[in-house]
Amino acid sequence: MKKMENLNPYQIAQMQFDRAADKLDLEPWMREFLKTPDRNVSVDFPVKMDDGSVKMFTGYRVQHNNSRGPYKGGLRFSPKVSLDEVRALASWMTWKTALVDVPFGGAKGGVLCDPSKMSRAELERMTRRFTYEISDIIGPDVDIPAPDVNTDAQVMSWMLDTYSMGQRRDVFGVVTGKPTFLGGSHGRDEATGRGVVVIAMGAVKDEGLEPKGLTAVVQGFGNVGYHAARILVEKGVKIIGISDISTAIYNPDGIDVEDAKKYAKKNKLLLEGYDKAEHVSPKESILEVKTDILIPAALENQITMENAGDIKARFVVEGANGPTTPDADRILYEKGIIVVPDILANAGGVIASYFEWVQNIQREQWAYETVVGKLDEKLISAYRNTRNLAEKEKVDMRTAAYMIAIGRVAEATRTRGIFP
Ligand code: NAD
Repeated sequence: MKKMENLNPYQIAQMQFDRAADKLDLEPWMREFLKTPDRNVSVDFPVKMDDGSVKMFTGYRVQHNNSRGPYKGGLRFSPKVSLDEVRALASWMTWKTALVDVPFGGAKGGVLCDPSKMSRAELERMTRRFTYEISDIIGPDVDIPAPDVNTDAQVMSWMLDTYSMGQRRDVFGVVTGKPTFLGGSHGRDEATGRGVVVIAMGAVKDEGLEPKGLTAVVQGFGNVGYHAARILVEKGVKIIGISDISTAIYNPDGIDVEDAKKYAKKNKLLLEGYDKAEHVSPKESILEVKTDILIPAALENQITMENAGDIKARFVVEGANGPTTPDADRILYEKGIIVVPDILANAGGVIASYFEWVQNIQREQWAYETVVGKLDEKLISAYRNTRNLAEKEKVDMRTAAYMIAIGRVAEATRTRGIFP
């Protein structure tokens, strides 16, 4: 009988944790504690729609762990959000912040909605009401949301304003990913995509390759996918495939990333109908194109037991959170494909968010060059540590990254002790 693959993100996150924890000498209670989120908040709230009706929405904020600092993590708007998805994403944030050594814990939020079917005014009212619902558990020293799928600097500005109204003072540090004229940091917008490229270049170099002339395929053409594709082109890499929720495009001679972006901007952010490349059907098969670098930058569970055997890339660099299942991980490892895990590859965003938070506290704004210089330094250092441990322990990079992260959070927990 064909094996059924477990695609529950929370259970996948726990399997990834276990694989690394098995290699660490953790106390049994510590293992249980680190696997379990501190707080799972679920809220149901009404929003006035443009037609005068009132609709109920459900939102979540999960705070996984704050042993190393305030909870930190994005907020996504999607019709597919579930509590288990948010719990997985919150725990991945704990390991990410620990791995790149920023003084934060891990959290994540989500609201079940379809933003493509909502007006701007409806989105604003929903964002403000959700912020109000969770305002008791967020704050610059408590829990700091940021953009994720379908949320952006505008959504963060509404959150900042709503929270500040409640506090009767401006609290810029309550969210990151704000516009630069409202306490945002230069370089934050591109930071995740940039980080993906910095880490990909590290992996390429370690294999004795030069970026010039390599090819890449990017799944997802939003904040992470677009900036990753754009910066890869700057490094001399040719982008031969890009997909989004509407379609996948392919051109072996190279896609003009800026032209594709310009088209998408005028087309509700979609590549559907773009006529300077071939459209691939089904769009998921773009993942199986022969290329050097594959960057999943859309959603979870894209590389599974079903398609892992057909992946022909030499490097899979995870821009998205959780794009590869544990079964797929094993298959890719056996095929000798280098997988750079999400908690390392897409950590550029949270590092820049940390810089934004520091600038807000200091009432400063750093130059773009300062931000990217510090960002690259932190990323390269985390990549080196991960790669070195993977080689030393003869494990894949995901297991090595988790070992470093879990070790750091466990040490902080042990040293702080258990209250009371
Ligand atoms: P986004 O909303 O800006 O873009 C998402 C993109 O994915 C869109 O182009 C959308 O059309 C596409 N997409 C959705 N479903 C798809 C499918 N089935 N096939 C192909 N494409 C599809 O979101 P984002 O901020 O770029 O986030 C993308 C991923 O990166 C998520 O997993 C997110 O958690 C992760 N991430 C984001 C950040 C950040 O700073 N924004 C940081 C770390 C990780």
